[in-house]
Amino acid sequence: MRTIHFRDPAVEPASNGWELPLLVSPLFEADFVHGFTTRAGGVSVPPFDTLNLGGKWGDDPARVAENRRRLAGAVPGRCYVARQVHGPAIVRVRAGEGAEAIARVEADGLVSDAVGVSLGVFVADCIPALIADPRTGAFAAVHAGWRGTVAGVLPAAVRALATEFGARPGDLRIALGPAIGPCCFEVGEEVVAAFVALLPDARGSGVVLPSPRGAAGKSNVDLKAANRIVLERAGVSPEAIDAGPECTHCDRARFFSFRRDGSAGQQMGVIGRSGA
Ligand SMILES: [Zn+2]
Repeated sequence: MRTIHFRDPAVEPASNGWELPLLVSPLFEADFVHGFTTRAGGVSVPPFDTLNLGGKWGDDPARVAENRRRLAGAVPGRCYVARQVHGPAIVRVRAGEGAEAIARVEADGLVSDAVGVSLGVFVADCIPALIADPRTGAFAAVHAGWRGTVAGVLPAAVRALATEFGARPGDLRIALGPAIGPCCFEVGEEVVAAFVALLPDARGSGVVLPSPRGAAGKSNVDLKAANRIVLERAGVSPEAIDAGPECTHCDRARFFSFRRDGSAGQQMGVIGRSGA
């Protein structure tokens, strides 16, 4: 991942000075516009400082709206989000569809191939995953926490891209954005059991790790490692998966983290087709 600084002079005069740092993956072709937001570039005040994009946790709606307006300037067309419920459901978005209707659909992944459509997911420790298929032009945004990972939400998105658009897993490019890292994602026995049920070699493959602080009955989980394995099983090439090392929990300056700060803000992963 690398950082670009977005500022749209058509939306905001450059003299006003704001810019939006977005993490982007070098794996994605130029005709896909995408990015992962950080805390920087927005107008919200503590504890939502500054680019909180989530609307449910008590931030001033006018500030959230301004933050979303700034992000909207960085992606093509209309940005669609769904109602995230930590499950494996995927929703397809067609050109011209009502954003309000999609926002009511319970789904943790969105897929489309339409120019003028952008797809987004809200996160604050869970993985924001973006998928692009250069061959068919299809793309996806997926929210994958531990429940979604165990439920198979990323392979479900790969299947939806195949069913809806004829995408082949071997052609896909996938970026796993900033999420809680194995350094900080401590879990109990029930979560370990869920990962071992999904991946019998979860310990041997580094998905489930011994508690770094030696806590009894606790282990740490590497969510990105787990998703890499299930994506490779689904036919995605290992070199086509970009997973940044950022940890939302460690990096307070750059990222919101639910586990660290509770309901104090959400960042987003977004992707759309430029149509250029
Ligand atoms: Zn960490």
